[in-house]
Amino acid sequence: MFKNEYLKRVYEQVEARNKGEAEFLQAVREVLESLEAYVEKHPELEKWGILERIVEPERFIQFRVAWMDDAGKVQVNRGYRVQFNSAIGPYKGGLRLHPSVNASVIKFLGFEQIFKNSLTGLPMGGGKGGSDFDPKGKSDAEIMRFCQSFMTELSKHIGQFTDVPAGDIGVGAREIGYMFGQYKRLRNEVTGVLTGKGMSYGGSLVRPEATGYGLCYFTEEALNCMKNDSFKGKTVVISGSGNVAIYATQKATQLGAKVVALSDSTGYIYDKNGVNLDVVMDIKLNRRARISEYVKEVPTAEYHDGCSGIWTIPCDIALPCATQNEINEESAKALVANGCKVVCEGANMPSTPEAISVYLANGVLYGPAKAANAGGVATSGLEMSQNSLRLSWTFEEVDARLQGIMKNIFHNAYDASVACGAEGNLMVGANVAGFIKVADAMLAEGVAY
Ligand code: NDP
Repeated sequence: MFKNEYLKRVYEQVEARNKGEAEFLQAVREVLESLEAYVEKHPELEKWGILERIVEPERFIQFRVAWMDDAGKVQVNRGYRVQFNSAIGPYKGGLRLHPSVNASVIKFLGFEQIFKNSLTGLPMGGGKGGSDFDPKGKSDAEIMRFCQSFMTELSKHIGQFTDVPAGDIGVGAREIGYMFGQYKRLRNEVTGVLTGKGMSYGGSLVRPEATGYGLCYFTEEALNCMKNDSFKGKTVVISGSGNVAIYATQKATQLGAKVVALSDSTGYIYDKNGVNLDVVMDIKLNRRARISEYVKEVPTAEYHDGCSGIWTIPCDIALPCATQNEINEESAKALVANGCKVVCEGANMPSTPEAISVYLANGVLYGPAKAANAGGVATSGLEMSQNSLRLSWTFEEVDARLQGIMKNIFHNAYDASVACGAEGNLMVGANVAGFIKVADAMLAEGVAY
């Protein structure tokens, strides 16, 4: 609960204004709770209404997306873009296509994005968007028609200096390609208006790998500095089997760990010999099939229905890389009981507040999403730089910058945790470090009357 009156008042107002938006309220509460010590020392925040402003999106756009399916039937979905905060740069954040998308999910993701983008050290504000469209089971042509219709409206609100969307759940290279093509047709201009583009039309090397790789660079640095340890010889459990999970598996393996489990929304696989990533990539990236197919190719592995069982597998390190609130209190307790010492988040807000309390009470090294998974948006920022320069950097160059950024994020979060009297609490550290830069910019830019 809040001790500081100002924080309490702001949170109550957010609750009253955003009734029933559970994910958004969860994200706001976590950030505001982390700011107690900082807000106590900075009365100017209240004087200038910084918190009241930071919790309210600058703009929230909702729109109809009508498209025709292969049977000639008109389908209608709902599209969103939240342009949450532009204090330090153009809005930047992914687009999610998943049936669970609603205003609360988009606002929680957009709010988190403000602080994540600030932590990268790059000039990017916070935004997020998407639709309740379900890409599963759709043909390529249906995906294309949906993306074109979605972009027809979204194009009115974005631009290289205004708002630069990217991928997220359900949006990979194929969807970015269709949306980029439509934007170009409508505007008759070729700009870096989306990131995650293909290499043949302005994409950046390392962008596909960036979130998963960045997660591992962050985790390795945290292990190194906080536990004098590393990935080498560790057993790792990773949830999901999408973009983030696949490249986290690849990098953790390169760093000497054994990844024994992956999942999707129907179930999980356990391969005690270490998952064969070539098989997973073929199933997920080429065939767009279910993870259960894995045991047909690797009969020594096990497949189990349901998502939460994955957290009962003994491991040293858990990297949740699927979706929000996928680890609850019970799953966190199972992880701890089975020897897990490190949880670093590839997905956004994958741990419930109760799960985070379990980690902190048991000395688990906890790397929160907005710090640990910032490598994706950081590399999107590098894609924007290359587009502006009309240059392409080498894989090694982008990868080296990504490593430097992830190390910096860890150290900034750690140092901020020390400054707030919460040494080693990277959740508090990341929230405070991300907040300070945005708040300073908002103070400098004044209030518009
Ligand atoms: P993908 O769509 O590539 O993969 C998502 C994976 O998570 C799939 O295996 C999917 O299974 C599973 N999943 C999705 N929803 C659920 C659910 N409700 N329950 C269980 N499993 C689910 O997405 P990404 O890998 O890009 O994103 C994963 C997470 O990482 C998200 O939280 C995203 O916000 C976050 N993230 C992504 C970034 C990026 O660069 N892509 C950057 C920073 C964060 P199925 O196929 O069955 O749906």
